Amino acid sequence: MRKILMKAAIAVLAIGLLAPACKKQVKDSPESEIPQSVIDRVAELGFATGGIVKEGNGYIVEGDIYLSPEQLSQGVPTTKELVIANEEHYRTTNIVTGTPRTITVSLSSGAPSYFSTALNTAISRYNALGLTLTFSRVSSGGNINVVTFYQVSNTLGSSGFPSGGNPYPTIQMNTYWYSSSTNTNYLASIIAHEMGHCIGFRHTDYMNRAYSCGGSAYNEGTAGVGAIWINGTPTGASANSWMLACSNGSDRPFTSADITALTTLY
Ligand SMILES: [Zn+2]
Repeated sequence: MRKILMKAAIAVLAIGLLAPACKKQVKDSPESEIPQSVIDRVAELGFATGGIVKEGNGYIVEGDIYLSPEQLSQGVPTTKELVIANEEHYRTTNIVTGTPRTITVSLSSGAPSYFSTALNTAISRYNALGLTLTFSRVSSGGNINVVTFYQVSNTLGSSGFPSGGNPYPTIQMNTYWYSSSTNTNYLASIIAHEMGHCIGFRHTDYMNRAYSCGGSAYNEGTAGVGAIWINGTPTGASANSWMLACSNGSDRPFTSADITALTTLY
């Protein structure tokens, strides 16, 4: 998830780099260095192709979603695509299987202590919905482990999608943006967002990321996979979804449309 405030951009100017405001400053490689075959594959999988970043052996797309080499080499997904309203769009390339199921979540011992309360809040928000996925906090070695890092960039956190029916195992949170005075519910919203990716949720405003991130609108299409509209959800853009691509710095508990999407999948 990304921040849309200007703190990172100012920091970039201060250290004399020329990266655009909406990019990571440290690890970005010019898009010209991303192989065309990767760009084509990302588009084929239905993700936005702007701002792809090399990360380890894989790539980060849409600001905070890690795609592994395996995910990039898999066939085009046939799983359900969920669409809610014009600016909302939930799509899963992979989901967690074997439900009902408990997913354990841990916080790295190196993380600042204020993350603990926020993580518990995020977990309780999910568990309050009575999903077939139950999240359970453990002291270490969880199915999902939350780790922290420090990077001067507008990345608030990142994670990835499930594979093999299991949740993505790591959430990375950038402590550049947080302190002990950070609003707990706001921090919980970011963690809940990354947990959403870990269990297969896309950005709700994938069809128009400018909706939450600003800048120019783009629409990368639906990659030819099926779409399911959910009855009873808003027909207009629904603000404040927990899976909007960019944060405005506010608390984002689940909206009614979010809850519909969550209870439909799980
Ligand atoms: Zn995200």
